[in-house]
Amino acid sequence: MPETAIKKKKAPMRMCVACQTMRPKRELVRIVAGRDGEISLDSTGKAAGRGAYLCRDTACLAKAVKEKRLERALKSRIPAETAILLDRLITEGNDSG
Ligand SMILES: [Zn+2]
Repeated sequence: MPETAIKKKKAPMRMCVACQTMRPKRELVRIVAGRDGEISLDSTGKAAGRGAYLCRDTACLAKAVKEKRLERALKSRIPAETAILLDRLITEGNDSG
């Protein structure tokens, strides 16, 4: 078997709801709305509920919140304090690499 026949496994792609860029799933953060409507950052990517993907970038979070893209994607209201909390979580996530 020639080595060129080995195909690279494709990473699953998802689209950021803010800038609409397709990226590998692991480069994005998943925001999830639980059954009780609680919004949280899904660090495992496996949390139950309606999810939306965002770049690991607070600029995209701000845009998604401001333009109500996140609310539309999650079909939930995003309180200001939740947006602040998500902003902090994304910032902290970036620090750890
Ligand atoms: Zn984005």
